[in-house]
Amino acid sequence: MKGSTKTGLLRGLIAAAVSIAMLFGLMAVEYYLNPDNQAAQSSAAQTAETPAVPAVAEAEPISADANAAGAFQPGTYTATANGFGGPVDVTITIGDAGGIADVVIAGQGETPDVGGAAIPELRNQIITAQSADIDGVSGASFTSGAVKEAAANALALASGQEIETGPKAEGDNLFIPGTYTGSSKGFGGDVEVTVTVSEMAIEDIQISGDHETENIGSFAVSMLGERIMDAQSPNVDALSGATVTSSAIMRALQQALTEAGADLSRFPAPEEADPDAPKTDETLDCDICIVGAGGAGMTAAIKATQAGKNVILLERMPYVGGNTTKATGGMNAAETHYQAEQGIEDSVQQFIDDTMEGGHQMNNKDLVTVMAQNSAKGIDWLDSIGAPLPKVSFSGGATNARIHAPEDGSGVGAFLVTRFLNKVNELGINVLYDTKATELISDNGTVVGVKAESADTNYTINAKAVILTTGGFGNNQDMIVQYRPDLEGTVSTSAPGAMGDGIVMAQAVGADLVDIEQIQLHPTVEQGTSMLITESVRGDGAILVNQEGKRFTDELLTRDKVSAAELEQTGGYAYILFDQRLRDGLKAIEKYVSIGITVQADTIEGLAEQIGCDPATLSETLSTWNQAVANKNDEEFGRDTGMENDLSVAPFYAIKIAPGIHHTMGGVKIDTQAQVINTEGKPIPGLFAAGEVCGGVHGGNRIGGNAVADIVVFGTVASESAVAYCDK
Ligand code: ADP
Repeated sequence: MKGSTKTGLLRGLIAAAVSIAMLFGLMAVEYYLNPDNQAAQSSAAQTAETPAVPAVAEAEPISADANAAGAFQPGTYTATANGFGGPVDVTITIGDAGGIADVVIAGQGETPDVGGAAIPELRNQIITAQSADIDGVSGASFTSGAVKEAAANALALASGQEIETGPKAEGDNLFIPGTYTGSSKGFGGDVEVTVTVSEMAIEDIQISGDHETENIGSFAVSMLGERIMDAQSPNVDALSGATVTSSAIMRALQQALTEAGADLSRFPAPEEADPDAPKTDETLDCDICIVGAGGAGMTAAIKATQAGKNVILLERMPYVGGNTTKATGGMNAAETHYQAEQGIEDSVQQFIDDTMEGGHQMNNKDLVTVMAQNSAKGIDWLDSIGAPLPKVSFSGGATNARIHAPEDGSGVGAFLVTRFLNKVNELGINVLYDTKATELISDNGTVVGVKAESADTNYTINAKAVILTTGGFGNNQDMIVQYRPDLEGTVSTSAPGAMGDGIVMAQAVGADLVDIEQIQLHPTVEQGTSMLITESVRGDGAILVNQEGKRFTDELLTRDKVSAAELEQTGGYAYILFDQRLRDGLKAIEKYVSIGITVQADTIEGLAEQIGCDPATLSETLSTWNQAVANKNDEEFGRDTGMENDLSVAPFYAIKIAPGIHHTMGGVKIDTQAQVINTEGKPIPGLFAAGEVCGGVHGGNRIGGNAVADIVVFGTVASESAVAYCDK
């Protein structure tokens, strides 16, 4: 994927919206949430010589054993590399026997909770390895990279080598003009950054790499590029929710700039924003204010702008996409031209029936009918904005092949969000990033605007109509526990902005809620990374086995049933199993392999060993399954879809998975016009809502592929209703 920068509206908005304190806070949060980071943190904490404030790791006496004989010349050597917030100095003392006797690392500019906390551990790693070739500390990859680089240079000096410092820009110039490329390891592979510089400025930046592995798309990465261009510095804030990718980009950029002759110490560390600084007040006017730039919000914004309305789109994160970015499967739609072209028989009625049955008949059938009836039109609209979804296949809970995905099998969410954002930018829609809506403005029961805040501004946005598209509350543990105490502590696949803000704001103006306790667990979530293994893996033929190596369910039952079946197995988890043929046919699998959550073996027995189950049992499970595929008859569990290919092409793969919070199905009550309904059953004038913030469409269980259908169809309905309301 490519992310590139361009000047313009976005750039100015982003520059205005950056909040250093917030991002540092979020990075720290991410650090503590990641189990690897907890391990790193505790290992640092257990180190006896760890100082209380570890931005500098002071020397403690090192045992004589550490002075392993080596090729180094006794003495003390210092080298510097650029860390997250400025230079990191590594001073290495070589003992008489030629081994590393001591290491002092000074990185005062590193984020205290992240890079700073990692420094004592990095010091220990160098001493233990007697080398600069160390693992580093996950979650503090920026600091780790700087320490490794500086340590390698210090050891090069200790070996009598000259350190290659490269050419230097002359005089006051910052760079030697030209185009330079750097690369660094990101979440799932190498990230490459190519910069074009003049003597005093970064003129262009191109960033490439598989950013979707961190569930951000090229749009988020291009925003980081915008920040770098605005700051004209490699020292900018990471993207919250994507710090590993951000760090890799920064390292690659530093490498490229160093090649360009830059002295990195000339670029100041980002200044911390003053949280107590007074905010300015700003009043804006528009026809329609749309709160939340996920799939529903961007659909509504595009449609309303095309209908001639002046739109302001608010987004609390520094980038668009929300949970929509994370949608991996596709969009359910019936009676589409793609189905017709592929000879697939399906009907709107069957779509309604499947959705109602999947939702345990708890769904609002009127809303389901609107979604199903307008789904084919939604597919046509996506075609028209350059976001075609031609690949049609089976998905759990659907009688017919109905889930529509991108041609190349890539995740539907990032695919759509990238294209929605292109359209939003093309139409010049005013998107306020890092701007959180806090309150709906109500005038005698009619909604007439939104209050919102960014790092430096309090906004009053007057609007003729407001559309809430703030998504769900899967990331708000307090709300989860409030409505579903039994789910306390369950991992969530939700995006950082899924905090339930829209639900709280709507309730404050009298909105009713529906099915709020209906929270969907997704059955295939890798627990260490919270990464969701797309339903398409099972749809294309994968099976689930328990720790004993046995299948235990029809893998394509609805998500609630499969999740419940998993929770009954030993340890409450399972393994999803597939083969090389399946991997070859599904691009999404590449990221699972590249981030290391798969295990693989050339034989079934070998795979059994990898996952610690009985080889004979797993082998028998596979041959029974392959026979069922051949006979098109699964006698054990009655599965009858996703059986086109057996699992027989080596190597074989497994991913350990368990249920995770995936979608909050309940929310604000709406009618078929997407008007928000109050507790007396009446529409609240001026207020509309669409997408995951609403309840009623999915009932007690959402079928895979219906979230995208929901956002496209109801994003459109809400937009049309708001436009009509403005024109009244
Ligand atoms: P959907 O597309 O179903 O509406 P998403 O999760 O894709 O849901 O998008 C919701 C978006 O709303 C996210 O990008 C999220 O960051 C944003 N959002 C949530 N709360 C607020 C808020 N208070 N102000 C502005 N944006 C918000």
